[in-house]
Amino acid sequence: AAEPKYLTGDKAALNEFIDKFDTFLFDCDGVLWSGDHVYEGVPETLHLLRSKGKRTVFVTNNSTKSRGEYAKKLNGVNIPSDVEDVFGSAYSSAVYISRILKLPVGKNKVFVIGEAGVEKELASEGVPFIGGTDENFRRDITPADFEGIADGSLLDPEVGVVLCGLDFHINYLKLAHGLHYLRRGAIFLATNIDSTLPLHHDLFLGAGSIMMPLANASGQKPLELGKPSQAMMDAIEGKFQLDRSRTCMIGDRLNTDIKFGVEGKLGGTLHVQTGVDKKKDWQKKDAIAVPSFYVDKLSDLRHAA
Ligand code: PLP
Ligand code: CA
Repeated sequence: AAEPKYLTGDKAALNEFIDKFDTFLFDCDGVLWSGDHVYEGVPETLHLLRSKGKRTVFVTNNSTKSRGEYAKKLNGVNIPSDVEDVFGSAYSSAVYISRILKLPVGKNKVFVIGEAGVEKELASEGVPFIGGTDENFRRDITPADFEGIADGSLLDPEVGVVLCGLDFHINYLKLAHGLHYLRRGAIFLATNIDSTLPLHHDLFLGAGSIMMPLANASGQKPLELGKPSQAMMDAIEGKFQLDRSRTCMIGDRLNTDIKFGVEGKLGGTLHVQTGVDKKKDWQKKDAIAVPSFYVDKLSDLRHAA
Protein backbone atom coordinates (compact mmCIF):
# COMPACT_ATOMS: atom_id res chain seq x y z
CA ALA A 1 0.00 0.00 0.00
CA ALA A 2 1.11 3.60 -0.64
CA GLU A 3 2.47 5.70 2.22
CA PRO A 4 -0.43 7.47 4.02
CA LYS A 5 -0.68 11.12 3.05
CA TYR A 6 -0.37 13.69 5.84
CA LEU A 7 -2.92 16.47 5.38
CA THR A 8 -2.48 18.70 8.44
CA GLY A 9 -1.52 22.25 7.42
CA ASP A 10 -1.44 21.46 3.69
CA LYS A 11 -4.27 23.48 2.18
CA ALA A 12 -3.93 22.10 -1.36
CA ALA A 13 -3.84 18.50 -0.14
CA LEU A 14 -6.84 19.13 2.14
CA ASN A 15 -8.90 20.49 -0.74
CA GLU A 16 -7.94 17.62 -2.97
CA PHE A 17 -8.89 15.19 -0.17
CA ILE A 18 -12.31 16.73 0.40
CA ASP A 19 -13.06 16.88 -3.34
CA LYS A 20 -12.43 13.13 -3.68
CA PHE A 21 -15.47 12.20 -1.58
CA ASP A 22 -19.24 12.69 -1.41
CA THR A 23 -19.77 10.83 1.88
CA PHE A 24 -17.78 10.76 5.09
CA LEU A 25 -18.36 7.99 7.61
CA PHE A 26 -17.35 9.22 11.07
CA ASP A 27 -16.30 7.04 13.92
CA CYS A 28 -17.46 8.94 17.02
CA ASP A 29 -15.43 8.29 20.17
CA GLY A 30 -11.82 9.35 19.60
CA VAL A 31 -12.71 11.38 16.50
CA LEU A 32 -15.52 13.76 17.50
CA TRP A 33 -15.17 13.49 21.23
CA SER A 34 -13.72 11.57 24.11
CA GLY A 35 -16.56 10.42 26.38
CA ASP A 36 -18.46 13.64 27.12
CA HIS A 37 -15.69 16.01 26.00
CA VAL A 38 -16.14 17.28 22.43
CA TYR A 39 -12.89 18.15 20.70
CA GLU A 40 -12.40 21.79 19.78
CA GLY A 41 -13.49 22.80 16.28
CA VAL A 42 -15.36 19.56 15.54
CA PRO A 43 -18.87 21.03 15.10
CA GLU A 44 -17.41 23.69 12.78
CA THR A 45 -15.63 20.98 10.76
CA LEU A 46 -18.88 19.04 10.28
CA HIS A 47 -20.58 22.29 9.30
CA LEU A 48 -17.88 23.04 6.72
CA LEU A 49 -18.16 19.59 5.12
CA ARG A 50 -21.95 19.82 4.99
CA SER A 51 -21.76 23.31 3.47
CA LYS A 52 -19.72 21.74 0.66
CA GLY A 53 -22.58 19.29 0.07
CA LYS A 54 -20.94 16.29 1.75
CA ARG A 55 -23.06 13.65 3.42
CA THR A 56 -22.03 12.85 7.00
CA VAL A 57 -22.89 9.53 8.63
CA PHE A 58 -21.94 8.58 12.20
CA VAL A 59 -20.83 4.97 12.57
CA THR A 60 -20.19 3.87 16.13
CA ASN A 61 -19.42 0.56 17.79
CA ASN A 62 -20.98 1.78 21.02
CA SER A 63 -23.96 -0.55 21.56
CA THR A 64 -24.98 0.88 24.93
CA LYS A 65 -26.85 3.74 23.27
CA SER A 66 -29.56 3.60 20.60
CA ARG A 67 -29.35 5.67 17.41
CA GLY A 68 -31.87 8.11 18.87
CA GLU A 69 -29.74 8.63 21.95
CA TYR A 70 -26.69 9.16 19.74
CA ALA A 71 -28.53 11.74 17.66
CA LYS A 72 -29.44 13.51 20.89
CA LYS A 73 -25.79 13.51 21.96
CA LEU A 74 -24.73 14.91 18.56
CA ASN A 75 -27.36 17.67 18.74
CA GLY A 76 -26.25 18.47 22.27
CA VAL A 77 -22.73 19.23 21.05
CA ASN A 78 -23.91 21.42 18.15
CA ILE A 79 -23.76 18.78 15.44
CA PRO A 80 -27.36 18.88 14.14
CA SER A 81 -28.37 15.27 13.37
CA ASP A 82 -31.30 12.93 13.35
CA VAL A 83 -31.69 9.22 13.94
CA GLU A 84 -31.16 8.43 10.27
CA ASP A 85 -27.67 9.97 10.30
CA VAL A 86 -26.49 7.40 12.85
CA PHE A 87 -25.50 3.78 12.32
CA GLY A 88 -24.57 1.98 15.54
CA SER A 89 -23.56 -1.61 16.30
CA ALA A 90 -26.77 -2.24 18.27
CA TYR A 91 -28.84 -1.17 15.26
CA SER A 92 -26.61 -3.15 12.90
CA SER A 93 -27.18 -6.25 15.06
CA ALA A 94 -30.95 -5.74 15.21
CA VAL A 95 -31.18 -5.29 11.43
CA TYR A 96 -29.07 -8.40 10.86
CA ILE A 97 -31.31 -10.48 13.13
CA SER A 98 -34.61 -9.19 11.75
CA ARG A 99 -33.81 -8.87 8.05
CA ILE A 100 -31.00 -11.36 7.34
CA LEU A 101 -31.43 -14.19 9.86
CA LYS A 102 -35.24 -14.02 9.76
CA LEU A 103 -35.65 -16.80 12.33
CA PRO A 104 -39.05 -18.49 12.53
CA VAL A 105 -41.48 -17.44 15.26
CA GLY A 106 -40.93 -19.79 18.19
CA LYS A 107 -37.14 -19.73 17.67
CA ASN A 108 -36.56 -16.01 17.15
CA LYS A 109 -35.97 -14.74 20.66
CA VAL A 110 -32.64 -13.12 21.51
CA PHE A 111 -30.84 -13.64 24.80
CA VAL A 112 -29.15 -10.29 25.37
CA ILE A 113 -25.93 -9.63 27.21
CA GLY A 114 -25.83 -5.86 26.99
CA GLU A 115 -27.39 -2.57 27.93
CA ALA A 116 -30.51 -0.61 26.97
CA GLY A 117 -29.16 0.50 23.57
CA VAL A 118 -29.30 -3.08 22.32
CA GLU A 119 -32.78 -3.60 23.73
CA LYS A 120 -34.13 -0.41 22.14
CA GLU A 121 -32.83 -1.30 18.69
CA LEU A 122 -34.15 -4.89 18.93
CA ALA A 123 -37.55 -3.54 19.98
CA SER A 124 -37.58 -1.05 17.09
CA GLU A 125 -37.00 -3.94 14.68
CA GLY A 126 -39.72 -5.99 16.37
CA VAL A 127 -37.29 -8.64 17.63
CA PRO A 128 -38.30 -10.34 20.92
CA PHE A 129 -35.61 -10.61 23.58
CA ILE A 130 -34.88 -11.58 27.17
CA GLY A 131 -31.95 -10.90 29.52
CA GLY A 132 -30.38 -7.47 28.98
CA THR A 133 -31.28 -5.00 31.69
CA ASP A 134 -33.84 -7.32 33.33
CA GLU A 135 -33.24 -7.14 37.10
CA ASN A 136 -33.90 -10.90 37.39
CA PHE A 137 -30.54 -11.48 35.73
CA ARG A 138 -28.67 -8.96 37.85
CA ARG A 139 -28.09 -11.18 40.88
CA ASP A 140 -25.85 -13.94 42.16
CA ILE A 141 -26.28 -17.43 40.75
CA THR A 142 -27.85 -19.99 43.13
CA PRO A 143 -27.68 -23.82 43.28
CA ALA A 144 -31.24 -23.88 41.86
CA ASP A 145 -30.04 -21.83 38.87
CA PHE A 146 -27.27 -24.34 38.08
CA GLU A 147 -29.78 -27.17 38.19
CA GLY A 148 -32.49 -25.42 36.19
CA ILE A 149 -30.07 -24.21 33.54
CA ALA A 150 -28.56 -27.68 33.16
CA ASP A 151 -31.94 -29.44 32.85
CA GLY A 152 -33.30 -26.63 30.64
CA SER A 153 -36.27 -25.84 32.89
CA LEU A 154 -34.99 -22.27 33.42
CA LEU A 155 -34.18 -21.75 29.73
CA ASP A 156 -36.58 -20.23 27.22
CA PRO A 157 -37.08 -22.69 24.34
CA GLU A 158 -37.76 -19.80 21.94
CA VAL A 159 -34.23 -18.39 22.20
CA GLY A 160 -32.40 -18.80 18.89
CA VAL A 161 -29.71 -16.12 19.24
CA VAL A 162 -27.25 -15.00 21.91
CA LEU A 163 -26.26 -11.37 21.28
CA CYS A 164 -23.37 -10.02 23.29
CA GLY A 165 -22.57 -6.31 23.63
CA LEU A 166 -20.98 -4.25 26.34
CA ASP A 167 -22.73 -5.04 29.62
CA PHE A 168 -21.79 -3.10 32.75
CA HIS A 169 -23.69 -5.68 34.84
CA ILE A 170 -22.07 -8.82 33.47
CA ASN A 171 -22.16 -11.69 35.96
CA TYR A 172 -21.94 -15.48 36.21
CA LEU A 173 -25.72 -15.94 35.99
CA LYS A 174 -25.99 -14.18 32.60
CA LEU A 175 -22.92 -15.92 31.25
CA ALA A 176 -24.28 -19.31 32.35
CA HIS A 177 -27.58 -18.66 30.54
CA GLY A 178 -25.70 -17.47 27.45
CA LEU A 179 -23.44 -20.51 27.40
CA HIS A 180 -26.32 -22.93 27.71
CA TYR A 181 -28.28 -21.33 24.87
CA LEU A 182 -25.15 -21.67 22.75
CA ARG A 183 -24.77 -25.30 23.82
CA ARG A 184 -28.33 -25.86 22.60
CA GLY A 185 -27.53 -24.44 19.18
CA ALA A 186 -28.30 -20.71 19.43
CA ILE A 187 -26.52 -18.44 16.93
CA PHE A 188 -23.69 -16.48 18.57
CA LEU A 189 -23.55 -12.77 17.67
CA ALA A 190 -21.50 -9.87 19.04
CA THR A 191 -22.40 -6.20 18.59
CA ASN A 192 -18.68 -5.43 18.28
CA ILE A 193 -15.34 -6.84 19.37
CA ASP A 194 -13.49 -3.77 20.67
CA SER A 195 -11.19 -5.27 23.29
CA THR A 196 -11.04 -2.02 25.21
CA LEU A 197 -13.21 0.96 26.05
CA PRO A 198 -11.37 4.28 26.30
CA LEU A 199 -12.41 6.35 29.32
CA HIS A 200 -10.69 9.10 31.28
CA HIS A 201 -7.47 8.81 29.25
CA ASP A 202 -7.21 5.15 30.12
CA LEU A 203 -8.58 1.82 28.87
CA PHE A 204 -11.35 -0.31 30.41
CA LEU A 205 -12.97 -3.56 29.20
CA GLY A 206 -14.76 -3.29 25.86
CA ALA A 207 -17.54 -5.46 24.41
CA GLY A 208 -14.99 -7.85 22.91
CA SER A 209 -13.66 -8.62 26.39
CA ILE A 210 -17.12 -9.13 27.89
CA MET A 211 -17.83 -11.67 25.13
CA MET A 212 -14.62 -13.69 25.66
CA PRO A 213 -15.82 -15.95 28.51
CA LEU A 214 -18.64 -17.22 26.28
CA ALA A 215 -16.30 -17.75 23.34
CA ASN A 216 -13.86 -19.56 25.59
CA ALA A 217 -16.43 -21.80 27.27
CA SER A 218 -18.39 -22.61 24.09
CA GLY A 219 -15.41 -22.96 21.77
CA GLN A 220 -17.30 -20.77 19.29
CA LYS A 221 -16.47 -17.40 17.78
CA PRO A 222 -19.33 -14.93 17.44
CA LEU A 223 -20.27 -13.30 14.18
CA GLU A 224 -19.57 -9.63 14.84
CA LEU A 225 -21.81 -6.91 13.50
CA GLY A 226 -19.95 -3.69 14.29
CA LYS A 227 -16.87 -2.25 12.57
CA PRO A 228 -14.86 -3.90 10.94
CA SER A 229 -17.59 -6.38 9.99
CA GLN A 230 -18.50 -6.10 6.33
CA ALA A 231 -22.05 -7.09 7.27
CA MET A 232 -22.25 -3.59 8.73
CA MET A 233 -20.67 -2.02 5.64
CA ASP A 234 -23.14 -3.80 3.37
CA ALA A 235 -26.03 -2.59 5.50
CA ILE A 236 -24.71 1.00 5.39
CA GLU A 237 -24.19 0.80 1.64
CA GLY A 238 -27.75 -0.43 1.17
CA LYS A 239 -29.29 2.17 3.42
CA PHE A 240 -27.40 5.22 2.13
CA GLN A 241 -26.90 4.07 -1.48
CA LEU A 242 -23.16 4.69 -1.15
CA ASP A 243 -20.72 4.94 -3.99
CA ARG A 244 -17.88 3.24 -2.13
CA SER A 245 -15.21 4.83 -4.32
CA ARG A 246 -16.49 8.30 -3.25
CA THR A 247 -16.75 7.42 0.46
CA CYS A 248 -14.15 7.97 3.19
CA MET A 249 -14.07 6.33 6.64
CA ILE A 250 -12.61 8.53 9.39
CA GLY A 251 -11.48 6.84 12.58
CA ASP A 252 -8.98 6.41 15.39
CA ARG A 253 -8.74 2.60 15.68
CA LEU A 254 -6.89 0.49 13.12
CA ASN A 255 -8.54 -2.85 13.86
CA THR A 256 -12.09 -1.46 13.71
CA ASP A 257 -12.37 1.81 11.74
CA ILE A 258 -9.46 1.70 9.31
CA LYS A 259 -9.79 -2.04 8.66
CA PHE A 260 -13.52 -1.45 8.08
CA GLY A 261 -12.79 1.10 5.35
CA VAL A 262 -9.92 -0.81 3.76
CA GLU A 263 -11.78 -4.14 3.61
CA GLY A 264 -14.88 -2.32 2.38
CA LYS A 265 -12.80 -0.99 -0.53
CA LEU A 266 -13.79 2.59 0.20
CA GLY A 267 -12.14 5.39 -1.78
CA GLY A 268 -10.15 6.35 1.31
CA THR A 269 -9.57 6.11 5.03
CA LEU A 270 -8.48 8.98 7.29
CA HIS A 271 -6.74 8.33 10.60
CA VAL A 272 -6.82 10.89 13.42
CA GLN A 273 -4.34 11.01 16.30
CA THR A 274 -6.92 11.90 18.99
CA GLY A 275 -8.04 8.40 19.95
CA VAL A 276 -6.74 4.92 20.80
CA ASP A 277 -4.26 4.16 17.99
CA LYS A 278 -1.52 6.49 16.80
CA LYS A 279 0.68 6.90 13.74
CA LYS A 280 3.29 4.57 15.27
CA ASP A 281 0.72 1.74 15.24
CA TRP A 282 0.25 1.73 11.45
CA GLN A 283 3.97 2.32 10.93
CA LYS A 284 4.70 -1.11 12.46
CA LYS A 285 5.61 -3.83 9.97
CA ASP A 286 2.70 -6.05 11.01
CA ALA A 287 0.12 -3.23 11.24
CA ILE A 288 -3.42 -4.61 11.08
CA ALA A 289 -4.52 -1.85 8.67
CA VAL A 290 -2.93 1.25 7.17
CA PRO A 291 -4.94 4.40 6.37
CA SER A 292 -4.63 6.30 3.10
CA PHE A 293 -4.64 9.73 4.82
CA TYR A 294 -3.90 11.07 8.27
CA VAL A 295 -4.26 14.29 10.23
CA ASP A 296 -3.39 15.29 13.79
CA LYS A 297 -7.03 15.97 14.60
CA LEU A 298 -10.36 16.16 12.77
CA SER A 299 -10.57 19.96 12.97
CA ASP A 300 -7.43 20.19 10.82
CA LEU A 301 -9.83 19.67 7.90
CA ARG A 302 -11.12 23.20 8.54
CA HIS A 303 -7.98 24.63 7.00
CA ALA A 304 -9.21 23.62 3.57
CA ALA A 305 -10.40 26.57 1.52
N1 PLP B 1 -18.42 0.62 22.94
C1 PLP B 1 -18.79 1.40 23.96
C2 PLP B 1 -19.63 0.83 25.04
C3 PLP B 1 -18.41 2.74 24.03
O1 PLP B 1 -18.81 3.51 25.06
C4 PLP B 1 -17.60 3.24 22.99
C5 PLP B 1 -17.20 4.64 23.03
O2 PLP B 1 -17.86 5.49 23.63
C6 PLP B 1 -17.24 2.40 21.94
C7 PLP B 1 -17.67 1.11 21.93
C8 PLP B 1 -16.44 2.87 20.78
O3 PLP B 1 -17.24 3.72 20.01
P1 PLP B 1 -16.72 4.30 18.62
O4 PLP B 1 -16.89 3.23 17.61
O5 PLP B 1 -17.63 5.48 18.39
O6 PLP B 1 -15.31 4.71 18.83
CA1 CA C 1 -13.36 5.26 17.97
